[in-house]
Amino acid sequence: MKKIQMKTPLVEMDGDEMTRILWKMIKEELIVPFIDLKTEYYDLGLQHRDETDDQVTKDSAEATKKYGVAVKCATITPNAARVQEYNLKEMWKSPNGTIRAMLDGTVFRTPIIVKGIDPCVRNWKKPITIARHAYGDIYKNVEMRIPGPGKVEMVYTSEDGKTQDRSVIHVFNGPGVVQGVHNLDASIISYARSCFTYALAEKKDLWFSTKDTISKTYDHRFKDIFEELYENEYRPEFEKAGITYFYTLIDDAVARIMKSAGGFIWATKNYDGDVMSDMISSAFGSLAMMTSVLVSPGGYYEYEAAHGTVQRHYYKYLKGETTSTNSVATIFAWSGALRKRGELDGIPELQVFADHLEKATIRTIENGKMTGDLAAITHIPDPVILDSEAFIKAIRAELEQL
Ligand code: NAP
Ligand code: MG
Repeated sequence: MKKIQMKTPLVEMDGDEMTRILWKMIKEELIVPFIDLKTEYYDLGLQHRDETDDQVTKDSAEATKKYGVAVKCATITPNAARVQEYNLKEMWKSPNGTIRAMLDGTVFRTPIIVKGIDPCVRNWKKPITIARHAYGDIYKNVEMRIPGPGKVEMVYTSEDGKTQDRSVIHVFNGPGVVQGVHNLDASIISYARSCFTYALAEKKDLWFSTKDTISKTYDHRFKDIFEELYENEYRPEFEKAGITYFYTLIDDAVARIMKSAGGFIWATKNYDGDVMSDMISSAFGSLAMMTSVLVSPGGYYEYEAAHGTVQRHYYKYLKGETTSTNSVATIFAWSGALRKRGELDGIPELQVFADHLEKATIRTIENGKMTGDLAAITHIPDPVILDSEAFIKAIRAELEQL
């Protein structure tokens, strides 16, 4: 069999622990036998990040801007325990945070749906993709405890000192608390662009929700920016693609989503996305079945699994015990990236291969062969629990039939 040829390399970002082990197996069993794989390899494993003073993370983000498509393995975000464990020079920042900031991107999470592992919400038949704005609001807040009676004001002073604007937040009669939050037009515009870009790429409706009836200036700014961009730039493309942009209040969105069949993208503000993404992923079954893609307003894509490095399984693996770690989201990160590369480079075989890889993965599970985490939640009778490697080999067998 002739291998599929690639034109432009994928940016490959290797990672840590159990997912690093899965990464190698996926490449060897499911990718390299079928594709003449071209990647530009960046080792984001914690040890190599430390050796390069985290330069490798920045280089990998630059490479993503150059080539347009990256695939990333889960990586450790160091905390105090990791600094000790890996004897790190510094508590390096989250690679995802660094890459997201450099690409000015938005993360879209989509569950992978398989028959036999049903979402808790009966009528959710198609995946719901959730996007979360990743700047400002309470995540960059300034808070104060108010000890007793007194007045709290909000004051703006222009850079030249000439204009001031002020308003009273509250006149306190007793103790309490206050909070100051902000956001930036530039960040909201980038976010909106990523959302419109991704909706067009996926040909899915885009929903956006805020609480603009209560927050008449702050949340309303979000609503206006989305609406202006849509009307001025994206509407014709949306109409051509047969998709819609739909704005509604956050509470109305939540109520409608519970009754919907899914199949759309839901863009949220930072806090709503923090909360709702956990609800969506747990309602769809498992974090190990959730894909994640970072989309920049400039149209660069970085695909990964939504879960972490599965540390607990890695320590079992190191002790020589068998693990049953779910590789589905990481496989879908590869298929997503390969499909996008095929689309951008005009290689239909690569797109077809990506479809087959996903189909083979889903079939394997639907035929009753799965990892332990899925066996625990499926209603397929008598599921066969496979170890990490055997599961990937079972997918290989399905893939060869396609
Ligand atoms: P995690 O790696 O997502 O794993 C948490 C637990 O969820 C696991 O112990 C396992 O449960 C289950 N799980 C997650 N993915 C699974 C899979 N593919 N197959 C089977 N079970 C799976 O989260 P964590 O343990 O909190 O974090 C570990 C490291 O990952 C941390 O150093 C963190 O910084 C990093 N992290 C990276 C990313 C990223 O790169 N995008 C995201 C999140 C976390 P059981 O143990 O019960 O089997
Ligand atoms: Mg959360």
